Amino acid sequence: MSTRVGGGRPRRPGPQGRPARPQQHHRPDTNNRPSISAPKKREPVTVELAQTMTVKELADALNVGSGLIIKELISRGIMVTINQSIDFATAADVAAAFNVKVAPKALDASEGAIAAEIEEEENLRPRPPVVTIMGHVDHGKTSLLDVIRQTNVTAQEAGGITQHIGAYQVEVSGQKITFLDTPGHAAFTAMRARGAQATDIAVLVVAADDGVQPQTLEAISHAQAANVPIIVAINKMDKPDANPSRVKQQLAEAGVVVHDWGGDVEAVEVSARKKTGIKELLETILVVAELLELKANPNRLATGVVIEAKMDKTRGPVATVLIENGTLNVGDFVAVGAIPGKVRAMFNDRGKRVKKADPSTPVEILGLAGVPQAGDRLHAVPNEAAAKLFAQQAAQQAIQENQTAPRLTTLEEMFKQDGAVKELNVVLKADVQGSIEPIQTSLERLSSDEVKVKVIHSGTGNVTESDVLLVQASGGIIIGFNVRVEPGAKRAAESANIDIRLYNIIYDVVEDVRKALTGMLEPKFTEVQEGRAEVRQVFGKTGNVAGSMILDGKITRNSIARVSRNGKTIGEGRIESLRRFKDDVREVLAGYECGIVISGVSGIEPGDIISTFRKERVAGDLPL
Ligand code: GDP
Repeated sequence: MSTRVGGGRPRRPGPQGRPARPQQHHRPDTNNRPSISAPKKREPVTVELAQTMTVKELADALNVGSGLIIKELISRGIMVTINQSIDFATAADVAAAFNVKVAPKALDASEGAIAAEIEEEENLRPRPPVVTIMGHVDHGKTSLLDVIRQTNVTAQEAGGITQHIGAYQVEVSGQKITFLDTPGHAAFTAMRARGAQATDIAVLVVAADDGVQPQTLEAISHAQAANVPIIVAINKMDKPDANPSRVKQQLAEAGVVVHDWGGDVEAVEVSARKKTGIKELLETILVVAELLELKANPNRLATGVVIEAKMDKTRGPVATVLIENGTLNVGDFVAVGAIPGKVRAMFNDRGKRVKKADPSTPVEILGLAGVPQAGDRLHAVPNEAAAKLFAQQAAQQAIQENQTAPRLTTLEEMFKQDGAVKELNVVLKADVQGSIEPIQTSLERLSSDEVKVKVIHSGTGNVTESDVLLVQASGGIIIGFNVRVEPGAKRAAESANIDIRLYNIIYDVVEDVRKALTGMLEPKFTEVQEGRAEVRQVFGKTGNVAGSMILDGKITRNSIARVSRNGKTIGEGRIESLRRFKDDVREVLAGYECGIVISGVSGIEPGDIISTFRKERVAGDLPL
């Protein structure tokens, strides 16, 4: 994990707190050396090697005589003596001949970075907060970011033209604030899914005339799942139909309780158009930041995270990096994800050349050997060899994670290992709001002392890519009720091994999760609609017989049925009795009328729709 350490921001725990994967490589025990008579005859082992080493060191590490190593090297046309150095790649090649796998030795620099996680208090200095703006589309996120950028140019650089580098800094009352320039929770959670949490504070923009909307709720869930405090900016206050009280009430209903409502969330009324309330908003950010006591040690090698990166025709690879800890200097050797480099030049958010960048500062850096990805970690290291080694480690780790990524994010497997999971995060999507509450309540009721079911986000509509990202970043599963999976989400879920389970029957949702929690879950299945009937009249002594017309498919006795009225589920149960005229029948096909009794469902009315389902086992993923 050495490539992910640093920055003082904890990386997310492994999915659902599962135990760490066993260490892949170990050093051979020098006191108990297995004897090697000939190459390629022992169990493959992995040893750690430095970036460069002498022939003797390699021989010791591989536990073979130096003569054999020299022989191997000669066969490759490399003439060396026992005390001469060879590089890692050559050593790896030789090692392969002895059926020994090699891994780059953990760097001192990385150990230093780990130690720096527990920084000495005396070395820490306050650092500016890093803020992401979130909210529903068209509520004014971009406008607000623009206004903040224009009105608060850092003093010494006044007049500079703002460059778009993915983040910018403003100065308020002599204090700096860093804004990430890609608004929205998707970008925020995408970074988090890659192990990088750059944001300290989320500003939730809600349009005063439009109120809380689906993406407002999503943003709240995403911020809360990341444990990032929220400040509400009620925007568009200039509009005649602005209604901030309604916004506050809706927020309270969504669990974000502002001061006026007795909660502890700050809310500021602003207008991006009229540029009002902006200073108050910025000051509020500073107040909240102060409570967070954000600190970093500027006097160490830098760590940071890539905000965005591209290939520039004239300048080569360009990456915007947010410095999280330490100070990055021009001339520093770095590893950015799997890419090594030496910082050739740095530019701030005003396009001005700078020599150094301290914590929470966004800078554009030149001098990388390639284009890294957003979310990649930057580590400044002492020298070129370390940069290469660090990058190599990151590359190797990425390959390893790809190859060995177990499908631990499926509901079945999560609970197989006893005690592996203490909390099951669920993102719940349903067709109508009315279905969410009963499912959520039933699921949360399954929690025991040992395991907790936590719905980290719920909402109406299909399963989206943003839902997948949230689960990817937080661990857990997605449950869809009467909804579909959007194609983008399906692709994302497949590549990230996220379990999406689709249901039509509430009972089955709850039962599956219950079984999973007790380790009894059967293989995955999907519910296939079998038939649909419309209730034409209701009769029988207790009014429980639904005289119905089968609209499509067929209705079978004993199958599970859902009764809905105007698209809303009003009950579920088993088909207890199925009659045509006076006869009990096993099934009735489309186009025929019949009498249906559903156990546990009463109050059926003409016009209600009865849908029945059968379960089908699926080998792989659920169909769209
Ligand atoms: P985003 O999708 O959240 O980034 O929203 P935009 O910043 O693109 O704004 C959406 C629309 O709302 C644009 O037409 C803006 O001009 C308008 N808008 C943004 N802020 C305000 C405001 O404070 N008052 C008014 N009246 N309109 C605004």
